[in-house]
Amino acid sequence: MLGEMIEIGASIAAFAGAAAGGYSYASLAPWSTLFGGALTAPSNPVSGPRQIALTFDDGPNPRMTPQLLDLLEKNKIKATFFLIGSYATQQKELARRIHAAGHAIGDHTWTHPNLSRTGAAKTREELSRTKDAIEQLLGAPVTLFRPPFGARQPATFRIARELGLTPVTWNIIGNDWKAESSEYITARINRQIARNDRQGNATNLVLHDGSHRAQGMDRSFTIEAVRRLIASSTDRHFVTLDAWL
Ligand SMILES: [Zn+2]
Repeated sequence: MLGEMIEIGASIAAFAGAAAGGYSYASLAPWSTLFGGALTAPSNPVSGPRQIALTFDDGPNPRMTPQLLDLLEKNKIKATFFLIGSYATQQKELARRIHAAGHAIGDHTWTHPNLSRTGAAKTREELSRTKDAIEQLLGAPVTLFRPPFGARQPATFRIARELGLTPVTWNIIGNDWKAESSEYITARINRQIARNDRQGNATNLVLHDGSHRAQGMDRSFTIEAVRRLIASSTDRHFVTLDAWL
């Protein structure tokens, strides 16, 4: 288990391009509570099906998000989408479609910065501008926030809470942004879901329907992995993150 956690932490740190060091590692580890707690995943219910929250970051992406919405709708599954604010305002109809389909929508900042390095004013602007724009777009409150790369510092979650946002991390990350096949993603996800099952924890899974690097990124491997996960999860219950608040 520890090896797995270090592997996840190391991959996130590498992804973020973070410098090595105890503090930056702690600031990036999704399970770390050093800088204040965040919603990860609850224990599975004693009776009833095990739970999975499918979450998708870095959209809306006009190339992939519609396909993903079709797949979820066909299977009557609700998920959570953490939108980049600047993308949401460029893709208003798509953002509205996500909401109209019954999925939860969260704040993933305006420009996807590494919040372990931004000042308090910049952090507040990134979060509030996105929250305000999406709320205006949807006519509904935005109450969830996920920090890009999971990166944070002591002030980050305090600012989020002051804005009425619950910080959310994850307990499984699919590494789908660097996957060379859908099979890679599936194998990785299944291994970590099995770990969560052994520990009695529900699954809060991060995947990406978009990319902070560019709009219109191909996420076909991700969608295929989701298709397979749904097919193999008939005994599980898919929830949106607000079900855990
Ligand atoms: Zn992101």
